[in-house]
Amino acid sequence: MSVWTGGAFDVVVVGAGIAGSAFAALLAPSGLRILLLDAAPRPPRLPPLAATIDEVDLRVSALNPASVRLLEQAGAWQRLPREVASPYEHMRVWEEDGTARIGFDAAALGEPVLGHVVENRWIVATLLARLDEAANVVVRGGETLATLEQRAAGASRTRLWLASGAAVEAALVVGADGARSAVRTLCAIEAAERDTGQRALVATVTTERAHARTARQRFLTSGPLALLPLALPAGGQCCSIVWSADEALAEELLALDDAAFAARLGQASEHALGGIEAVSRRLAFPLRPLHAASYVAPGVALVGDAAHVIHPLAGQGINLGLADVRVLADELQRARARGLALADEGVLARYQRRRRGDNALMLETMDVLRRLYADRRPGVRLARNLGVAAVDALSPLKRALMRRAAGLG
Ligand SMILES: Cc1cc2nc3c(=O)[nH]c(=O)nc-3n(C[C@H](O)[C@H](O)[C@H](O)COP(=O)(O)OP(=O)(O)OC[C@H]3O[C@@H](n4cnc5c(N)ncnc54)[C@H](O)[C@@H]3O)c2cc1C
Repeated sequence: MSVWTGGAFDVVVVGAGIAGSAFAALLAPSGLRILLLDAAPRPPRLPPLAATIDEVDLRVSALNPASVRLLEQAGAWQRLPREVASPYEHMRVWEEDGTARIGFDAAALGEPVLGHVVENRWIVATLLARLDEAANVVVRGGETLATLEQRAAGASRTRLWLASGAAVEAALVVGADGARSAVRTLCAIEAAERDTGQRALVATVTTERAHARTARQRFLTSGPLALLPLALPAGGQCCSIVWSADEALAEELLALDDAAFAARLGQASEHALGGIEAVSRRLAFPLRPLHAASYVAPGVALVGDAAHVIHPLAGQGINLGLADVRVLADELQRARARGLALADEGVLARYQRRRRGDNALMLETMDVLRRLYADRRPGVRLARNLGVAAVDALSPLKRALMRRAAGLG
């Protein structure tokens, strides 16, 4: 087998998670020479259909309609087996410490569904399957970015070195390498990170009652708990849970045996779906929202978690990442149509202008919500309950919120 030594490309995408793979797939029809690389080995072609809760990927995403449309455009959505995408038409949100409830229904938005819950490994696998058909795209697993030479003024290419020793050159480097982005660090882009002191515990569970295509979220004073409906394993009684809690509580929940954890989860969800009948293995992720001071540097653009990490309480992380991908691909197409270089300063500046403000607003909103719901003072609780009840009763405001969450506003 010959050793891969690198080469010259128009675009090098570092990171083949959802954001990086979607960006490469969206750009593939342009004919540009694209390299998509990832430190992890390339995953198996298509994952198995989960037959038990232990076979479900613990990382799932609630994709809004705008993200689904983007994955369609990227040629991935059509490849998902129907049962892998779990549609939900309703959302119910309520809290531990109050009376107000708020509900959202797809019908009110004029959309068939509010979103789809999909295992992350399936999203990536279908994007990579699409890329396998593109002769102009090279996908390399097991390649870690080690060094990046900052581009001198006036230079038209950036050089990168991989840990394997391969050297690569690109007109544009796209950093899609996640929260601990090496591209961001190597470009000396600062990122404000906030340690919430919380962790998000994830697991897959079977519930006594069917989820009825409804996503549920209960704000506990210790943090939000989400139950996302899954179509697989079959039966309509499986959910993926995301339970955000302070370090100590997260540790305690991780250490419980399955029966004790199921009992705690049943209480925490106020038995909205009856008892919890079975629980998969559990994992916890640290919750450290982060925002890059800039999304661009000479010859470089950041997308997805490399640019922003948001609290998962509204399931917006990858939806924002895919919105970055759409806008960056759009700006690059416009640049080409106007005969501009891919990494033209004005082109990258426009990308940043179109995305950073929106993302900052969403990050701020999530932080305010998280703190508001953690506040136990009676006055705050009363105001919160009145506010939620008012929003629920005010259909224009509620509709505006729903459109925003759906990526339509
Ligand atoms: C518990 C939890 C639940 C969530 N639920 C939702 C949800 O319901 N909906 C939603 O929209 N979002 C959700 N999110 C957020 C979502 O998971 C992330 O926003 C999303 O996965 C980020 O995708 P990404 O492609 O930007 O980065 P990543 O998925 O982190 O991918 C980065 C890739 O880059 C590679 N890489 C890293 N460093 C290097 C290097 N030096 N060289 C080469 N490759 C490298 C990595 O191997 C990885 O494959 C959730 C997050 C958490 C923690």
